[in-house]
Amino acid sequence: MIWQDGIGIRIYSVINTQRNEDYENDGRCEIDLKQDTLDGLKMRLRGPVFAPGNVGYDESRTVWNGMINRKPSLIARCLGTADVIACVQFAREHELLLCIKGGGHNIAGLATADGALMLDMSLMRGVWVDPQRKVAHVQAGCLLGDVDRETQTYGLAAVLGFVSLTGVAGLPLGGGFGYLTRRWGWTSDNVVGMNVVTADARLVRASNDENADLFWGLRGGGGNFGS
Ligand SMILES: Cc1cc2nc3c(=O)[nH]c(=O)nc-3n(C[C@H](O)[C@H](O)[C@H](O)COP(=O)(O)OP(=O)(O)OC[C@H]3O[C@@H](n4cnc5c(N)ncnc54)[C@H](O)[C@@H]3O)c2cc1C
Repeated sequence: MIWQDGIGIRIYSVINTQRNEDYENDGRCEIDLKQDTLDGLKMRLRGPVFAPGNVGYDESRTVWNGMINRKPSLIARCLGTADVIACVQFAREHELLLCIKGGGHNIAGLATADGALMLDMSLMRGVWVDPQRKVAHVQAGCLLGDVDRETQTYGLAAVLGFVSLTGVAGLPLGGGFGYLTRRWGWTSDNVVGMNVVTADARLVRASNDENADLFWGLRGGGGNFGS
């Protein structure tokens, strides 16, 4: 399953307030899909779809660790939950491996895979702050700096990592620690809920009250938990 959109993170009042081309390019980026099948996927999405050679393909498949040089067959830059659901359905219909890139900071390069359909979430960077509830609603393509920028407008801050370019989505999968951890715990301790697209393309809520076992696993389950 994929958790992808709408992460609720507790926020707090705070005082003062080049790639190595040779490394693993084995050329496994082709899949046998007819052009009209591909066009069908494009029709189902609001966001763009890239195949190898398209402008944007290399930018999307690039991750932080320059030694990782994997080549997905297709990359969908999702623009919303409906795009994510459509991609999961498409991957199931065509038995494609699926991978998801948030901020691309996983050092092992778990966000990318040869021959897969990659979901690049980088266009989904909305942040909505509820200062009364002290919760931020964060989309899956957000980087830590996106969240800080919006919460600081209210003099609030979330427990995130040290480097602003890291992705918010991958952070709680590994626990997540940063400047505020000693006082308020791990990032995963402060997630109040997630909207999740499951492997059978259903949209569900994971929180202490709904799908609590899934919620437990998503907070610290590790890179590629369920994806
Ligand atoms: C320079 C640097 C600084 C770092 N600093 C810190 C730090 O201060 N504190 C800390 O705790 N960690 C830190 N990390 C580690 C980082 O938090 C993890 O690597 C984290 O997984 C990165 O998240 P991401 O979204 O950027 O990664 P990605 O590589 O995009 O994804 C990581 C994993 O999460 C999965 N994933 C991403 N988005 C989704 C999604 N929407 N749905 C389902 N699965 C998804 C990917 O498939 C992959 O398996 C740092 C890493 C680097 C390279």
